[in-house]
Amino acid sequence: MISKLPPNRPSHLTLKFLKLYVNSGDLQRAQHLFDQIPEPDLRTQTILITAYTKWGFPKESLKLYRELRNKKIKPDRLVLLSAAKACTASSDLIKAKEIHEDAVRFGFGSDLVLGNALIDMFGKCNSIQAAGKVFDDLPVKDVVSWTSMAVGYWNCGLPREALWVLREMGLNGVRPNSITVSSILPACSHLKALNAGREIHGFVVRNGMGDNVFVNSGLVDMYAKCLSTWQARNVFDNMPQRDVVAWNVILTTYFSNGDWNEACKLFDQMKIEGAKVNSASWNAMITGCTQNGLNEQAFELLARMQDSGFKPNQFTIASVMPACTSLESLRGGKEIHGYSFRHCFMEDVVIATALVFMYAKCGDLGISRRTFDRMPRKDTVAWNTMILANSMHGHGVKALSLFRGMIGSDIRPNSVTFTGVLSGCSHSRLVDEGHAIFNSMSRDHGVEPNEDHCSCMVDVFSRAGRLEEAYGFIQKMPLEPTAGAWGALLGACRVYKNVELGAIAAKRLFDIEPDNPGNYILLSNIFVAAKLPDDASMVRKLMRDRGIMKMPGCSWIQVKDKVYTFTAGDKRSAQSDEIYGFLDELGEKMRLMGYVPNTGFALQDVDEEEKEEGLISHSERLAVAFGILNSNGGLTIRVFKNLRICGDCHNAIKFIAKIVGMQIIVRDTMRFHHFRDGSCSCHDFW
Ligand code: ZN
Ligand code: ZN
Repeated sequence: MISKLPPNRPSHLTLKFLKLYVNSGDLQRAQHLFDQIPEPDLRTQTILITAYTKWGFPKESLKLYRELRNKKIKPDRLVLLSAAKACTASSDLIKAKEIHEDAVRFGFGSDLVLGNALIDMFGKCNSIQAAGKVFDDLPVKDVVSWTSMAVGYWNCGLPREALWVLREMGLNGVRPNSITVSSILPACSHLKALNAGREIHGFVVRNGMGDNVFVNSGLVDMYAKCLSTWQARNVFDNMPQRDVVAWNVILTTYFSNGDWNEACKLFDQMKIEGAKVNSASWNAMITGCTQNGLNEQAFELLARMQDSGFKPNQFTIASVMPACTSLESLRGGKEIHGYSFRHCFMEDVVIATALVFMYAKCGDLGISRRTFDRMPRKDTVAWNTMILANSMHGHGVKALSLFRGMIGSDIRPNSVTFTGVLSGCSHSRLVDEGHAIFNSMSRDHGVEPNEDHCSCMVDVFSRAGRLEEAYGFIQKMPLEPTAGAWGALLGACRVYKNVELGAIAAKRLFDIEPDNPGNYILLSNIFVAAKLPDDASMVRKLMRDRGIMKMPGCSWIQVKDKVYTFTAGDKRSAQSDEIYGFLDELGEKMRLMGYVPNTGFALQDVDEEEKEEGLISHSERLAVAFGILNSNGGLTIRVFKNLRICGDCHNAIKFIAKIVGMQIIVRDTMRFHHFRDGSCSCHDFW
């Protein structure tokens, strides 16, 4: 039918069909029809270019524009507008510059509508200079020009300048409209510019924009970010209609202020008022709970969310994952894993990485590694997580081979990668390897060593017992040595019984972090071990005089879906008698196997537990005993401690693991200890 029509120009009918296809979004048919036109004119091409932009195919749109220009067809204002919008959508700066040149070349340099579109385009393409040039060249500017310029600054990460444009705009007699206001408020939020925000609020009220839902949501967010909760609430309460954005902002506000009670109240009210709760609201609630340490509630909300017919998405999973990691809730984590797997979220690199981290942190390095291995795509963060996990568990050799695998896969290492590998090297006493990697950092990978990396290097030397080299490294460090560096040296001085260097390191630490009780206790321990009781009591006196308190030790363990917490000498458990009885029984067997209790740890308060408590009632030992008694045939138990594990307990748990034939994993503040068959993965260094 079409071929019978006049040869060169498209007929009315062709145009009619083209428009029909385009309007219904059937771009394939439209393109097909277009291809049959021997010499498409500007009008026909404009229709198709506009359609591609409108339906979200900016690249096709720009390709057609290029064809048009190759045919030396002179573009008009309409087609330039469409092309500019396509550039805006694809943030293609090179093409954007071409469009701008064409606009000037064909005499549209002072066209207001096109100019505004070009300003917006350059703003989205991150070239504020080019946007400013278009703006300056416009002989007449309207509210859209100014607004586009302000939005451009905000997009380019220059919020201060965005606010400045708003001020200039007023000075030039141009009155902002509600779009200007709602697009500038995020800049105030970002800058926490309460005064500027208040001025805008006043302007809003004076100019009758108080009913605009976008403006109001922006104001709520601005006050919330400026930490003025009551003002945020005031705007919120006076909104004639509230959109879900405003609701979600106010929920998040209360959570970030720690007022989760009010947030939960509002969430219930939200449903009473018939507000459309969306999945972002559920996510805000779940994130809010995990941020406030309300992990149980987060899981409860996740269940309620599903009961209400909402499917958790990537964001939900990402927000509930921290709850698993902080509860060390392997069980909860496994549920999330199953859910993610069933809903094909495992393709999502962020979720998969979070799972890798969760398993490692919950002490199950095996599943962590399997999850990592199954990831279809691994980015730097994923590799870093796996490397750090292995280091954390004391598997330095594996961390090192992962690092090589990462380089081999052409994934660029960053600063975190090196912290991970180096700490792996230190835990596994890989001194030469660690040193070589440290030296290769800036030379081969373009990553400048920072304080953390230097501290790791000190740790690498220290843990291997090369204390003089560690001290030499600290002295030659290009950066000011941090508490991390001196702390590594001090810790090693305790293990290798080096009083002299220990005193030097401790002295520096007392200056850098005078309130950290750990340093005083470590130095005191070093003196005790060196049979220098007077020096030890002097350190303890110093600590007392400075009013420094020790953190009470506590250990916890998850059995089924409940977490049980123990403090030293704890008798609160219903199973207390059983626990102490079991520990006595174990004590007998241990002594027969050659265990000698190190009373130094009990009497001298060598680690952080209270000294009046006997060794047997240290929190980690109670948790271990409880775990074994409730293991139900399981072969591994996982205990967590808020302080460094005590030296005598460390020794005792090695024996216990052998006696009961189980793997006992203890995570303290420093690392994971895997006790199995009479020894520990840390090789007695922690
Ligand atoms: Zn102990
Ligand atoms: Zn250990």
